[in-house]
Amino acid sequence: MRNYARHTLALTTFFDHPGDGRVYPEIPASDLSWALVAGVILRLGSANRLEWLAKSSNGNDLGLTRSFGDDALAYFSERLDPQVIRRRMAETLKLAKCNKVFEETAFIGLAIDGTGVGHTTKQPCPLCHPIKDSNNNVTGYNHHFVMISVVGAGITLPFDVEPYAADDSEYAAGKRLLKRAVNLLGPRFANYSVADAKFATAPFLHTSDQVKLPIIARLKQNLPQLSAAVEARFTGQPPTSSFQYGDDWIEVWDANDFDPWEALNWNNVRAMRYRQHKKDGRVIQAEWLTNYSITKLPARSFFKLAKSRWEIENQGFNDAKNLYGMEHIQHHAPNSMVVNWLITLLALMIERLYRIRYLHRGSHPILTAMQLNDTLWLNLRHAHADSG
Ligand SMILES: [Zn+2]
Repeated sequence: MRNYARHTLALTTFFDHPGDGRVYPEIPASDLSWALVAGVILRLGSANRLEWLAKSSNGNDLGLTRSFGDDALAYFSERLDPQVIRRRMAETLKLAKCNKVFEETAFIGLAIDGTGVGHTTKQPCPLCHPIKDSNNNVTGYNHHFVMISVVGAGITLPFDVEPYAADDSEYAAGKRLLKRAVNLLGPRFANYSVADAKFATAPFLHTSDQVKLPIIARLKQNLPQLSAAVEARFTGQPPTSSFQYGDDWIEVWDANDFDPWEALNWNNVRAMRYRQHKKDGRVIQAEWLTNYSITKLPARSFFKLAKSRWEIENQGFNDAKNLYGMEHIQHHAPNSMVVNWLITLLALMIERLYRIRYLHRGSHPILTAMQLNDTLWLNLRHAHADSG
C-alpha cells in the first residue's frame, strides 16, 4: 500500500517533502509523514499505539526506517504546513479524474458540511469552542471545522477541512473552503456543489456562483418566503415526474420560476420537492433549491444530486470519526489538529483508491474497509513472525 501510494498515486515527493517546518530534523520527514498516514490506515487511534507498534514490530514492516516516540510526531505535526497536504490531495484527485476513477456518466459534486470533534476538558487552545451547561458554566471544549468532499461519482473522497474558532462562523469557513478547493482543483474539475440548508444563504450561494459551480442546497424553514411559495405551489398538484430508485418509488415536483429572496441576486430560483416512498410504507419528503437549468439537469438527476449530499455524512464524517479516529485529538495544538484531520482524509483517499479501484481490477471483488484492514494486520503479523 505504501508503494501504491508512493508510485501509482505519485505521492513520493509528498512523503519525502511534506512541508516539514522543523529546523533541525533528526528523524526523516518521510518516516514521520508515512507513520501518520499508516496510523490512520491501520486505525490505531493514538500516537502511543503507533509508537508501540513501530518499536515492537520490525519498523520495516510498517514501511519505516526507524522507530520514534509520540513526542516526535507531535513536534512534527505542530510544524507541518497544512497547505502542502491540501495541494497534494487536490493533485491526487486530478490524477484520479484523468485515470477515470470517477464514473464516466456522473456529475462530479463537491459537498460541504460542518461538524464538531475533539472534546476536551483541558486547557483551551485558540480553536476551542466552549461547551456550556444550563447555568452558563463552561464544562468543556470542542473543535469545529467544515469539510469538503467529492461526491456523486461512485467513490466518496473528502479532501480538505477549514477550521473555525468560536468567534468565526461555519458558513464563513464554508466560503473560504469552497473558494480554496476550486482554486486548487481548477475550474473544470467539478460540475456542482451541494450543501445543507444552513449553507442556503445568499452569501454562500453567491460564493458558489463566483467559482462557477451550480449549487444544490436543501430548502428549509430558514428561507420562509421561498418555503411558503414552494408549499403553496406544489401541495395538491400532481407530481412533475415519478420513477423507481432502488427499492423506492420517487415522486418529484419541480419548477424553475420561483422568486429569489431579497438578498439573492439570481433571476429566479428552481425548487424541487421529492417524496420517497419506502417499501415499508415510510415516506420521506424534502425540498431543495438550485440554479441549475432544467434542460441541463432533468428532475431525476436533480434528485440524485440532492441525495449525493448524504455521502459527506455517511462516508465522510461517520467513517472518519467512527473508523479512523477523527473524533479524538492526537495533539491539542491548532496546527497539529488541522494536520491530523487532513492526514486522516489523505489516508482515507489512499485506502479508498487502493481498495475500491486498484484491488478491484479485473474480476477481483471489492473488499470492505474492514476486510482490507484485517488483511493489513494479518500481513503485519506474518511479517513479524518471519522476522522474529
Ligand atoms: Zn482546542
